[in-house]
Amino acid sequence: MKIAFIGLGNMGGGMAANLAKAGHEVHAFDLSEDALARARDNGCHTYTSVREAVQGAEAIVSMLPNGKIVETVFEGDVIGHAPTSAPLLDCSTIDVATARKVAADAAKAGYAMVDAPVSGGIAAANAGTLTFMVGGSDAAFARAQPILSAMGKAVIHAGEGGAGQAAKICNNMILGATMIATCEAFALADKLGLDLQTFFDISSKASGQSWSMTSYCPVPGVGPQSPADNGYQGGFAAALMLKDLKLAMEAAGSVGANVPMGQRAEELYEAFAAAGNGGVDFSGIIRTL
Ligand code: NAD
Repeated sequence: MKIAFIGLGNMGGGMAANLAKAGHEVHAFDLSEDALARARDNGCHTYTSVREAVQGAEAIVSMLPNGKIVETVFEGDVIGHAPTSAPLLDCSTIDVATARKVAADAAKAGYAMVDAPVSGGIAAANAGTLTFMVGGSDAAFARAQPILSAMGKAVIHAGEGGAGQAAKICNNMILGATMIATCEAFALADKLGLDLQTFFDISSKASGQSWSMTSYCPVPGVGPQSPADNGYQGGFAAALMLKDLKLAMEAAGSVGANVPMGQRAEELYEAFAAAGNGGVDFSGIIRTL
């Protein structure tokens, strides 16, 4: 299948490579020359504009930084330029309102579109083991599913347009809050004189258990291998966690939802990032507690 791929950064680079590996003809575009060179090394054909890349494409996939860019790219260079028979798959993490607006505009112009944000970081993008949360009609989901499957281990239909983004930010709001709660508990356990491995052994089998504890423990040398064992480098940057919490707060404000824990998590990650830790793994917030 001829697939146009727009946005070949940390995530999109690996995803486009996996589509090429699966036998698709990938027509790739990014503003960065380095990203284009890497895509060529990974078997993609590269183009000098979005409009060129989407010409004659049978599907369009994007992995871009934010909603404003997604809107500009789709409204300016994809809708009306790609064949209407090509489904549009935006995998970026963006605000729910923009995802719904772009999908509605695409539908008006005759395209099927899904929002398909991912769970899993750069390693999962490279390995093709992402989880996709998909918003769109049943028909659009059915067309997107086989393409997404070539880049991930799970593809879940969350509901109508925007539902993928809604699921993603609600999930990451839990993650931000539980990571901070887990860090606090380890810091308190330490001050109370508990051995931290012993506390992990207890809490990971008791009601304090969560993914933040058992899969991504913020304490070096405790639990499975995690960014804590690597000086909080790699993993999921605090700046990206902050981005997702901001999107969650924006969405909560738009529907009048009461999210005090999410709000506090946003404030704490804001302060953490402002202190120069935006590039540090989000579990590194334990150093401030
Ligand atoms: P990135 O900054 O590495 O990549 C974005 C790419 O988009 C860059 O290469 C940039 O040059 C390109 N770009 C920007 N504007 C463009 C345009 N107009 N046309 C073409 N290309 C353009 O970011 P990333 O880490 O790959 O993240 C991409 C998306 O995935 C974001 O929405 C992010 O929130 C989400 N996400 C990231 C992670 C992660 O761990 N990095 C995890 C889950 C979701």
